[in-house]
Amino acid sequence: MAGEANGISHAAIAHVASHPSTLRTPALDYLPLFARLSGRPCLVVGAGEVGLRKARTLLAAGAQVTVVAPAACEALAALAATGRLCWRRGTFDPVLVEGQLLVIAATGRPDVDAQVQQAANRAGRLVNVVDDAARCSYIFPAIVDRSPIVVAISSGGTAPVLARLLRERLEALLPASLGRLAALAGRWRSRVSGEPLSFVRRRRYWERVLDGDIASLVHAGREAEAEQAMARALDEPDAGGCVYLVGAGPGDPGLLTLRALQVMQRADVILHDRLVSPEILALARRDARLVSVGKQPRGRAHDQAAINARLVTEAREGRRVCRLKGGDPFVFGRGGEELEALHAAGVAFEVVPGITAAVGCAAYAGVPLTHRDHNSAVTLVTAHCRESVECVDWAELARPGQMLAVYMGAGQVPHVREALLSHGRAASTPVTFVENGTTRRQRIVRSTLGSMHADAARERVAAPAMLFIGEGAALAGTLGWFKSQPESGTRAAARSLALAG
Ligand code: SAH
Repeated sequence: MAGEANGISHAAIAHVASHPSTLRTPALDYLPLFARLSGRPCLVVGAGEVGLRKARTLLAAGAQVTVVAPAACEALAALAATGRLCWRRGTFDPVLVEGQLLVIAATGRPDVDAQVQQAANRAGRLVNVVDDAARCSYIFPAIVDRSPIVVAISSGGTAPVLARLLRERLEALLPASLGRLAALAGRWRSRVSGEPLSFVRRRRYWERVLDGDIASLVHAGREAEAEQAMARALDEPDAGGCVYLVGAGPGDPGLLTLRALQVMQRADVILHDRLVSPEILALARRDARLVSVGKQPRGRAHDQAAINARLVTEAREGRRVCRLKGGDPFVFGRGGEELEALHAAGVAFEVVPGITAAVGCAAYAGVPLTHRDHNSAVTLVTAHCRESVECVDWAELARPGQMLAVYMGAGQVPHVREALLSHGRAASTPVTFVENGTTRRQRIVRSTLGSMHADAARERVAAPAMLFIGEGAALAGTLGWFKSQPESGTRAAARSLALAG
């Protein structure tokens, strides 16, 4: 009988089958829960060293522990003698699982453990079979204890050593005073809830207590001062909103700065450009409002003036606003204009630089922007539209020995080519296109100044793309290291269609 061999009774199978939601493969193999065991009956079968360890864990959580085993190790017998737990001398009897919240099979004998597991399953009890993940209906996680803060880590039985390593890292990361901080917050919670504070102010208050100057006092053991500061902070007027102009880098979330991440984690609202990738937006604080104010390459989804006005309004309403831009906000990002508007409106701001597309794409494509043998200078230039192409000093840019990093140039390739050639730059000058640089969809197209228009058209180079023109651009052939993940056939076909349309 397969059901019995798996330790699942037929009654249990019938129950599972009649409940549609349990038939699907679950997204989570184990749902982490924090169970209050205080005063609840739990059964440990086996009284050796392992049974002792499990019994101690349950006792630490205040459970009413019964251990069943014909013989017990010394320490366990001592716990029984002092009445800390109840030891039933004898062999396991299935009837013992009745009424238990949790059951642990720790006999070290597979046949007995299997019996315990089956009895528990039949009775609908949660059972843990030590060192046999497949038979467990619950498992004990690795724990970092900063009570009342408790972090539980599980590898679902697949890699306990990894779980332990993670625990060690967290142990080192979380200060011993974390528990005291949480307890302090707990004591003040109802008092703060009684204050007439807006939702945003209340959250800001707690952030200051838990992560700002007040938290520092607690970590330094100056709790009395911390409590005084907490009382004062309740009466202080709100500091008001402000805007953080943040560069999100060219695409790879790993290229965000630590400061950018911090700001994204604290912002009430994030106004982001279309170019900011979903992977980066996923790092925003969960309850932050995400607003796309994306400017299309050539369309005008949102007028710049409207964006400026929005920034001012959001900040004046007291919010912490993260204005998230692709690359660096001061490089072809109109960040300066936004700051001027904020300055004029008297709104406080801060700027967080980002890795600009030229620097990020060059790195991921293996194009050194300067190189002693090839380019002694680099110029960042935009070929946004016909007019911007026309107002550039091409005679200056056509001189050999320098690298041009051209932004927004995908649609202007013929004009850029024409301008450089007519000012004497050699047709053999190496060119490298980097499309969707630093992302999993990064694509490199290598060419020369003379044939770059034809190559870009044939390869359908599309925005966002950087264009590197200069002797060092050829090094992408040998120094390119980044492996993108090519699109599936269907997705590639869909994209070609979209482009063709
Ligand atoms: N402030 C941004 C530039 C905004 S202009 C920065 O510092 O990077 C938008 C142009 O940047 C795009 O048209 C393209 O030329 C370039 N760009 C941005 N992200 C890119 C990426 N991941 N790959 C290639 N080019 C990119």
